Amino acid sequence: MNENELKIFKKILLDRKEQILKNIAEYRNEIGELKSSETSDEADLATITIDTALEETLSRKQSKELEEIEYALSKIEKGTYDICEMCEEEIGVERLKVKPQARYCIVCREIVEKTS
Ligand SMILES: [Zn+2]
Repeated sequence: MNENELKIFKKILLDRKEQILKNIAEYRNEIGELKSSETSDEADLATITIDTALEETLSRKQSKELEEIEYALSKIEKGTYDICEMCEEEIGVERLKVKPQARYCIVCREIVEKTS
């Protein structure tokens, strides 16, 4: 991977990070509002409970993705961004375009997924 490509991926990761941080802040706001708003009947309360559970799931997913992105950014700093952590071959630009925070090449990813 050349320096220009690396810059592009860094920007993609930083943009994604910003988006996730915004999303998480929004979920938290909404959940906070729902919890503080007065509920008149039980049907409302049930809807809110489902919504809150869903949003918490989404929020957890986003937090996990955020961690992966932070990790990928630290790999950029170390100069090991496009190196697979299992076989130490290049992950490949095409794969990183699909998943910019990928840690393994496509072959190793399948092994990791089978064993975990
Ligand atoms: Zn590999």
